[in-house]
Amino acid sequence: MSTVSTSPLTFAENISKWVEEYGYVPIEPPLGIDLVAEIQRLKREKNAVLLAHYYQEAEIQDIADFIGDSLGLSQKAAETNADIIVFAGVHFMAETAKILNPTKKVLIPDLNAGCSLSDSCPPEAFAAFKAQYPDHKVVSYINTSARIKAMSDIIVTSSNAVPIVQALPADWKLIFAPDKNLGLYVMRKTGRDMVLWNGVCMVHTIFSHQKVRALRQAYPDAELIAHPECEPALLEQADFIGSTTALLNYVVNSPKKRFIVATETGILHQMRKKAPDKELIQAPAEYSCSCNTCPHMKLNTLEKIYNALLYEAPEVTLPPDIMEAARRPIELMLQMSRDLGLVQKG
Ligand code: SF4
Repeated sequence: MSTVSTSPLTFAENISKWVEEYGYVPIEPPLGIDLVAEIQRLKREKNAVLLAHYYQEAEIQDIADFIGDSLGLSQKAAETNADIIVFAGVHFMAETAKILNPTKKVLIPDLNAGCSLSDSCPPEAFAAFKAQYPDHKVVSYINTSARIKAMSDIIVTSSNAVPIVQALPADWKLIFAPDKNLGLYVMRKTGRDMVLWNGVCMVHTIFSHQKVRALRQAYPDAELIAHPECEPALLEQADFIGSTTALLNYVVNSPKKRFIVATETGILHQMRKKAPDKELIQAPAEYSCSCNTCPHMKLNTLEKIYNALLYEAPEVTLPPDIMEAARRPIELMLQMSRDLGLVQKG
């Protein structure tokens, strides 16, 4: 974060200008302040709630009011009484919170926190793709922009994609977007044919199948657990496949002691907290890098969360017609999740 020189603009105008330029408020917090205590104070004073995804840094998870995966976070966002929602996650998640709370202020610490999977499905290209299948309904993974959600009939998350697709009328022809690996997994589990958009997550497709196989040979007692966004060749080796929350619960409840974890590394913090007796091995990436760390998620920092709360920026805003059209398939997902008993506790 750099020190920015002021101009004749008002302070509020400067904040907007900086947010436009940098994507966040680039003001250094005062030296020596206790950021955690200040964030907690601002949350109380402003009736704000901090929602954090499992892929956030441990220090952010530890001060969040709720930590979860996409389903849990959207359920939480739908029921909050707070005036301000600070979303420590990526942009499509904050958009979902805004769509569900159009009158509330939704803040994201850094507007640059995007998602390679969501970006792999641009609205114009998807509209043209959808037009090729006029008799199909669109099932979209929550990792999409509000504009894609507005073109969808129902939204799913990795927690509920299988039971929701299973419950959709059998005579519906389906398009699934944007994650082709999750789509293939859902097709395998439900036996339903779907037309797939060709998108992937840059983090979940980086795991080396060979290195994972070698690890399994080195640790034959270890179970491989994987997120369904991983490639089919890795999923075929997995002992358990599930959403981030499902993977966490599996580690906590399994009698096994050692796990190879194929998903973003942030979840290991909660696994270590909730199951300190278990040994966790990160599934290795293809290259010698930290590629299984989501660079978008990690743009959020305590400093940016503090600034977001203090200056109430950057704010997530959306055109009313897009919010309206995107809300219907999200609410249908929430309703079906309730009907199917898939409400997450937190
Ligand atoms: S882990 Fe993948 S799907 Fe999740 S936010 Fe990062 S890029 Fe997007």
